[in-house]
Amino acid sequence: MKFNPADNIQDLQYFGEFGGVNPSISDSSTYTFLSAKTMFDTFEGNAEGCYLYSRHSSPSNLYLGEALAAMEGTETANVAASGMGAITPVLLQFCGAGNHIVSSRTIYGGTYAFMKNFLPRLNINTAFVDITKLDVVEAAITPNTKVLYCETVSNPLLEVADIEGLSKIAKKHNLKLVVDNTFSPLSVSPAKMGADVVIHSLTKFINGSSDTVGGVVCGTQEFIDSLRNVNDGASMLLGSTMDSLRASSILKNLRTLHIRIKQHSHNAQYLAERFEKDGITTVYPGLTSHPSHELYKGMINPEYGFGGMLTIDVGSLDKANELMELMQNRNLGYLAVSLGFYKTLFSAPGSSTSSEIPEDEQKEMGLTDGLIRFSIGLDNDIERTYTMMIDCIKELGIL
Ligand SMILES: *Cc1c(COP(=O)(O)O)cnc(C)c1O
Repeated sequence: MKFNPADNIQDLQYFGEFGGVNPSISDSSTYTFLSAKTMFDTFEGNAEGCYLYSRHSSPSNLYLGEALAAMEGTETANVAASGMGAITPVLLQFCGAGNHIVSSRTIYGGTYAFMKNFLPRLNINTAFVDITKLDVVEAAITPNTKVLYCETVSNPLLEVADIEGLSKIAKKHNLKLVVDNTFSPLSVSPAKMGADVVIHSLTKFINGSSDTVGGVVCGTQEFIDSLRNVNDGASMLLGSTMDSLRASSILKNLRTLHIRIKQHSHNAQYLAERFEKDGITTVYPGLTSHPSHELYKGMINPEYGFGGMLTIDVGSLDKANELMELMQNRNLGYLAVSLGFYKTLFSAPGSSTSSEIPEDEQKEMGLTDGLIRFSIGLDNDIERTYTMMIDCIKELGIL
C-alpha cells in the first residue's frame, strides 16, 4: 500500500481513561513507582512504558509524538515547546565543539541566527549554501561536517530542496540529513526520501489556529532516545518541554490537517495562477514557472497540492507596506508573521522574519525589499478574495 500520511494519522485509535473519544490529558508532572527498583531502571533508560517526570515524557506528549511519527513515517518522535525548541537540541545532539554544519542559506530566520551567531560560541560553524545546487552543497562538506540541514520548501523564497539528492550526498559523507518540513506537512514526506530527522514547527499549519507554539523531532527510536537521555540528551537537559494541555489540543487539530492543507493548496494555487497571469512577479512551487516545479511535482503526495505559501514582489518596501495595510483594512488577511492560520497572513520578510539575515546577504539570495510572503487562508470563495485583492493592487498603482 502506498504511504499516505493522513491515512496513517486516521488509523490511530486513542481512547480516554473512561472511554472518552479523545485521550485523557495527563494532569501530572511526576509519576509514582510501585517499586524503587523500577525507578532506578527508568533512570538507566530500561523501564519501557514507565513515566518518570514530564520533562522526559508524558502520556499526552507521547500520543502527539506518535501521531506525528505516523504522519512522517518515522519510528518515533519527540515533541517540544516550540519549533526552535525542536531544532536547537537536534543540532546540539549531533554536533560538538569543532564540528561543522552545511545548511541551506534560505532558512527560517531564527534557525539562521542560531547557526550564524550562537553556535560559533560553542565552536560549531556553518557553511551556508545554495541548497538547489547539489555540487555546491557537496563542495562545502569538510572532514568535520556532521549535519546537512535544509527546509523542504524554504522560508521565505520557496526554494525546493532535492531531498533524495541531498540524502545521497549525506550517506556518501556519513552526515545526518535534517529537514525542516514546516511549510509542507502531508505534501512531502522527507523521511521516505532519505531524511534522517524531520522537524516541524507545530505552531504553523499543523496546529493551524495560531494559538500556541510547539515543535517536533521525528526520527529513529535510537536518536529520539538519545535526545531524551537523562545524562546527556539535549532535549531533556535544555528543557524545552511541551505542556500536556497543549499537546492534547494540537493532537485534535492534527486530525483535520488533511482537509486544511487541501484547501490552503487549492486557494494558493488559484491566487498564484491569477496573479501571474496579471503580470505580478509571483513565486509558487505549483506554477510551471517555478524553477523547481518539476522536481517538486515528483516529490509531493499529489492530493495535498503545492502548499499554502506564495510570494509576490511589488517593487518596493513602501508599496509592500501600503498594500498589506490596505488588504488588512479590507479584511483580506492580517499583517502578521507566522503561517498556517485559517486567515491569510502576510508580511514583508526582508524587514521582519528574515531581518536576522544581513542586507547584503538578503540581496545575494534574491530576497528583495518589495517581497510579500503570503500564507493563504482557508477562504471559502477564493475567486471573491482574488477580486478584492486585485482591486487593492490596482488602486495602489502596482499594476
Ligand atoms: C516558525 C518556524 C520555525 C520556528 O518555530 P517556532 O515554533 O516559532 O519556534 C522553524 N522553521 C520554520 C520553517 C518556521 O516557519
